Amino acid sequence: MERIFDQELEDRLVRYAAIDSQSDETSTATPSTAIQFGMLNLLVAELQEIGAEEVVLTEYGVVLATIPATGTGPAIGFLAHVDTAPQFNATGVKPRVIKGYDGGDITYPDNPALVLSPRKSPYLASKKGDDLITASGLTLLGADDKAGVAIVMTLARHLLASPGIKHPKIRLAFTPDEEIGRGVGEQLPKDLGVDFAYTLDGGDAGEIVYESFSADRAVVTVKGVSIHPGWAKEKMVNAAHLAAKIVQTLPQATMTPETTDGREGFIHITDMNGGSSEMEIKLILRDFELDGLTAKGDLLKKVCEAVQASEPRAEIACEIIPQYRNMRYWLENDMTPVELALAACKAHGIEPISAPIRGGTDGSRLTEFGVPTPNIFTGMQNVHGPLEWISVQDMAKATEVCLTLVQLAAEQR
Ligand SMILES: [Zn+2]
Repeated sequence: MERIFDQELEDRLVRYAAIDSQSDETSTATPSTAIQFGMLNLLVAELQEIGAEEVVLTEYGVVLATIPATGTGPAIGFLAHVDTAPQFNATGVKPRVIKGYDGGDITYPDNPALVLSPRKSPYLASKKGDDLITASGLTLLGADDKAGVAIVMTLARHLLASPGIKHPKIRLAFTPDEEIGRGVGEQLPKDLGVDFAYTLDGGDAGEIVYESFSADRAVVTVKGVSIHPGWAKEKMVNAAHLAAKIVQTLPQATMTPETTDGREGFIHITDMNGGSSEMEIKLILRDFELDGLTAKGDLLKKVCEAVQASEPRAEIACEIIPQYRNMRYWLENDMTPVELALAACKAHGIEPISAPIRGGTDGSRLTEFGVPTPNIFTGMQNVHGPLEWISVQDMAKATEVCLTLVQLAAEQR
C-alpha cells in the first residue's frame, strides 16, 4: 500500500484529539455539551475549504455535507461522531506520535506508573514499525471517534481533489453525543438522504460489523411506607430492603456483563438510588435476539412481582423502555452494503472480521430508521481510558478501504 494518507491522517487526528468534545449524559441540551461545537464548527470550515457542497450544521447538532457524484451508483453516507466518552478525563488531551514503534513497552510522560505492554496485547505486538498515537497518561486519547472523523475527512479531501475517480453521490455526517446514545435523531435519516451508510467507529483492522445488540433499558421503582422510626412497628415498609431483595434475586453468577461474552446477553444494574421511603433501580437489558431480550425483560418483571407479592403494602413498578435493535434484522434483507465493504477489504488483502459487537453504534439506530449502516474499522484500541492508542497505518487502511468501496459501488450499475 502506498503511504499517501499517513501524514494527513496523523495531522488530523492530533489536531482533532486536542479539542475537548466530551459528551455528558446528565445534560438535556442538544448537543449535550456546548464544547462539541468546537469540533462541529471546525469541520464546517474544513469541509468548505476542501470544496464539499451543501455543508450545514443542523439545529440538532449534526454537520452534513455532500461530495457530488462523478459516476453512477447508490448514494452512500459516511458517519463519524465528534464526541468523546464521558467515562474518563478528556480535558487537556496531549496526543503524542510514536514514529516507527519499536515493539517494546510504551510509557507515558505525564503518568510514570502507566505502561502499555505488547505482552498483554497481541494486537499491539503486531504493530511493530507502525506510527502509533497515544495520549500523555492523564486523559483518554479520543481516537474514538476522532480517528473516524480523520478518516472521513481525508477520504473527502482526496475525492474532491481527484475528479477522475468515479464514485456515486456521497454524503458525510458528523454527529454529536454518540457515546451517550443520542447521536441519531429521527430527522437525520431523511436529511442524510442515502441508500445506505457506514459508521467509521470500529476497532481492529478488517472489522466490518453488521450485528449489534438489541437493547432495552428498565427502571424499577419501589415505594415503601414511610413512618417515624420510633413509632414504626408493624407500619413501616422499608423500600431499601425491598430493592435489595430485587437485586439479590436477579441472576448474579450468570447473565451479567462480567459473566458473559460472545453471543450471550445480560441484565446489568447500572444505578441504584433512594432511601427507606422510595428506591429507584436502573438497568440495561441486552441480547442479540429479540426473544432473548424479551425473556430478560420478563425475568426482571417476574422478580419484581415476586418481591411485590412478599409485601403487598409496597408499590413496585417495572418499566421497560426500548433503546436500539440488532441491525442484522434489516441488513439480512439486503446485504449489498456489507458485501461492498467485505469486497473492499479483500481488494487490499485485509481479512475481514465480522464478529457481532457487544454494544450499539449510531448505525444501529440509522438501520432501524431505514438506512442500513454497518460499522467499519478505524484501528482504535483500548478506548475510553488512558491506554487508548491507534496505528496511523490502520487508519490509512480504513481510508483505502472506503476509497475502494465507493469505486466498487460505482461499478455496480
Ligand atoms: Zn465510538
